[in-house]
Amino acid sequence: MSIRLHSTLTGADEQVQPGPDGVIGIYACGPTVYSRIHIGNARPFVVFSVLKRYLERRGMRARLVINVTDVNDKIYDAARAEGIPSTELAERCTRQYMADTDLLGLGRPDAEPLVTGCMPEIIALIDDLVERGLAYAAGGDVYFRVRAFPDYGCLSGRRLDDMPDTDPGDLKEDPLDFALWKGLKDGEDASWESPWGPGRPGWHIECSAMAERELGMAFSVHGGGIDLVFPHHENEIAQSEGAHGAPFARIWMHNEMLELSDSKMSKSIGNIALLADVVERWGADTVIAYFMQSHYRSRLPFSDERLHDAEAACRRIRNAVRALDRALDEPGDANDVALATAVMDARMRFFDAMDDDFGTPGAMAAIFDLVRAINQALERGRPPEGQLQEVRLELSGLLDMLGLAGLASAGGADEAPPEVLDMVRRREEARVARDFAEADALRDAIVAAGFELRDGPDGPEVVPA
Ligand SMILES: [Zn+2]
Repeated sequence: MSIRLHSTLTGADEQVQPGPDGVIGIYACGPTVYSRIHIGNARPFVVFSVLKRYLERRGMRARLVINVTDVNDKIYDAARAEGIPSTELAERCTRQYMADTDLLGLGRPDAEPLVTGCMPEIIALIDDLVERGLAYAAGGDVYFRVRAFPDYGCLSGRRLDDMPDTDPGDLKEDPLDFALWKGLKDGEDASWESPWGPGRPGWHIECSAMAERELGMAFSVHGGGIDLVFPHHENEIAQSEGAHGAPFARIWMHNEMLELSDSKMSKSIGNIALLADVVERWGADTVIAYFMQSHYRSRLPFSDERLHDAEAACRRIRNAVRALDRALDEPGDANDVALATAVMDARMRFFDAMDDDFGTPGAMAAIFDLVRAINQALERGRPPEGQLQEVRLELSGLLDMLGLAGLASAGGADEAPPEVLDMVRRREEARVARDFAEADALRDAIVAAGFELRDGPDGPEVVPA
């Protein structure tokens, strides 16, 4: 079995290999906690959580670390704007981030280190760099000496001469140098003691120290959004490899960005695009399916249309599971050979796609082929109980590997989309109010949406027509 991922470092697909302890260590850069998280921030959370899940379902041991950046300029600025201490804002936003990502139902990473919990390691790493001549203290700050690290640019492919002229800064030896430690400035309400005076770490050194603490050096996969390649990840490599003279991460895996181009969206961005709001509106399964239907290295438009597609996809899968469950009530006795073949094909195509650079769209396509084969088999006849159970188990197993196991636990009402359930509720209200014209109009609209109403003893039940 060979699972390959595209590495930004080599530009090639590389085999995922565990470290010496037999564990595949995955570090993904997490959020800076100064506001609620956006649907765009959820993409790396979903991609790396599902990657870990997939590796484990394939019998490997994996450890996923997603950090929380709770010390950063943006936090100071946002806290000042709100008129509260920065530590209070960071703590509140960390809790919100946990609650918001919990809504996805993908579980938590194995470790979620905070910068505030990693200060001794950060300071020790900076100290190492100063000792090696790769960093220097200047007026309460410490800077990384970029030209002293010969491999600088290895990840982004940039040459030193083409680097953007970053903030020159009075204290820097060279404009290319970047801060590892920033001395306390006016208006900053949180600081930590260090050999260079009170202050706080730079963003890049935080990740180097947290990754090393949780996973050691030469761990398997370092991930994050493609926007982090330069300078954040370039600087992480310079710091960690500079300090240890050894490889930091083997594979650098980057997810592409979401496109928030829809005009209605951009007007009210921040409200509509909060992860919690998107999950509330569409449901966790639909949101995960939306991400899985696109390759992590493709730009992904965020639009109602895409989410409607994902919702329809989830409904097709749920309906197939329900059809299997109904068939299980009255099974037949002749094995369906075509269905048995379809199960084997789907399984093979699913794993081929996933092992080839985490090809979730191919994996989803394999699931849909299986769904189609199930529907066709049930139209042809009634497979026996054993086969039905096996097909159901196989389908739910594949869904589970993508974080979509919820689709296989088909309940009664949750298969109808929220707008249909809303019409059902309004129809009940109209009936209670004896507005029969409105009730009939709503029933017609429900039927037009592809559902059927069955009035039962516990109220109306909505099922696919
Ligand atoms: Zn990072």
